[in-house]
Amino acid sequence: MMKQVGPTRINAKHTLTCHCGAVALLLNLPDGIVNPRRCDCSICRRKGAIVASVSLDGIEIIKGADVLKLYQFNTNTARHYFCSICGIYTHHQRRSNPNEYGYNVGCLEGVNPFEIPNIPLNDGVNHPADRSK
Ligand SMILES: [Zn+2]
Repeated sequence: MMKQVGPTRINAKHTLTCHCGAVALLLNLPDGIVNPRRCDCSICRRKGAIVASVSLDGIEIIKGADVLKLYQFNTNTARHYFCSICGIYTHHQRRSNPNEYGYNVGCLEGVNPFEIPNIPLNDGVNHPADRSK
């Protein structure tokens, strides 16, 4: 967990916005940024975002529920959301843990995710849900 990134303190309720500002979410982050990571699965390698975790009841859509688009693929378990105006990925319901959302750390107000040191890479090519097969 991480409560400070560069000059920015992570609030217990921290705002997340897409690039154009049409979408705004309020994240419940009492422990700050939890489990920041990158992932090399087929979708994450394309978006390149640094992602962290928030509980399913930890996201409140303040603005733009009507412009958020849902994208699903493969097993259709994960739910990937992005702004239909600017195209920025905001958050997704995870496949490996459907009890939490992942969100785009780069969308947190005031946070430059490149100031977070040593971000681990998740092995998304060998997805945890596929390994037991
Ligand atoms: Zn947008």
